[in-house]
Amino acid sequence: MSILVVGSVAFDTVETPFGKAEKVLGGSASFFSVAASFFAPVSLVGVVGDDFGEKELAAFRGRDIDVSGLERMDGKTFHWRGKYSYDLNARETVCTDLNVFEFFKPKIPAAYRESRHVFLGNIDPVLQLDVLAQVEKPEIVACDTMNFWISGKPEELRKTLERVDVLLINDAEARQLSGEWNVVKAARAIRAMGPRTLVLKKGEHGVLMFSDAGSFAAPAYPLEDVFDPTGAGDTFAGGFLGYLAGAGDVDEPTLRKAVIMGSTLASFCVEAFSLDRLLRLTRPEIDDRFRLFKRLTHFETL
Ligand code: AMP
Repeated sequence: MSILVVGSVAFDTVETPFGKAEKVLGGSASFFSVAASFFAPVSLVGVVGDDFGEKELAAFRGRDIDVSGLERMDGKTFHWRGKYSYDLNARETVCTDLNVFEFFKPKIPAAYRESRHVFLGNIDPVLQLDVLAQVEKPEIVACDTMNFWISGKPEELRKTLERVDVLLINDAEARQLSGEWNVVKAARAIRAMGPRTLVLKKGEHGVLMFSDAGSFAAPAYPLEDVFDPTGAGDTFAGGFLGYLAGAGDVDEPTLRKAVIMGSTLASFCVEAFSLDRLLRLTRPEIDDRFRLFKRLTHFETL
């Protein structure tokens, strides 16, 4: 059974201290799909304009990604422009041209409605809830959101969160959503809103997962070359949910391995612009780095 992902498919223009990329493939659903497809089949639901051609679609071809739910509308594809300073954890959104994304009403094809794993990318919480109304009882619903929705549609977001199993957000978003500065208190408040599991992303400082069993921390992999952090969060989500779908389990040891797999995939994403590194990635490279993660934090007690 495939993983259903609903989210943005975009052109990104990104500037970092190390270079610039113009109108390259981006969007939450793109990063998620390619990362998750290493572990399980993926069904992508999104929208693109008539400027999205074969060159861009090639990223999804030859992988286990079904794009029959990728709608095409007259007009231009969603375009996001972002800029990073040397502090790669802080990014500035220079502009967001919604284009056809403004009219996005996710229609889940009949063949995807029984998906056991669903990823709700960062879109309007009303649309996220609408997606959940179109699917039969999934085993795991994972969800991303952002400050724009937390402050703009708080009631709607609360309704969506009641139906979410795993929420993946950054620490600033967790503070904003809960009204708590301390992340442990924030996690308790957010878990009471619905998500049994909360994954707090802290960029180059790694992630913290809060679940029924307590908390689990994973560092970001120490890399010599970090080029562009765009998409790292969605790539993490793809590795995380892909791993869970492949494992077919959600006990604590599996959740922990999923966090490390998410971190592994995200560490490759940031090594190049757009999806460039992910598209060259091989399964043996993933498995090697997954093992290095174990060595990174392993220590013996006396
Ligand atoms: P991430 O770095 O994982 O948070 O995600 C970056 C991706 O999110 C980029 O490829 C953008 O195209 C996409 N993105 C940026 N802003 C939005 C938005 N408002 N809605 C949906 N996707 C967005």
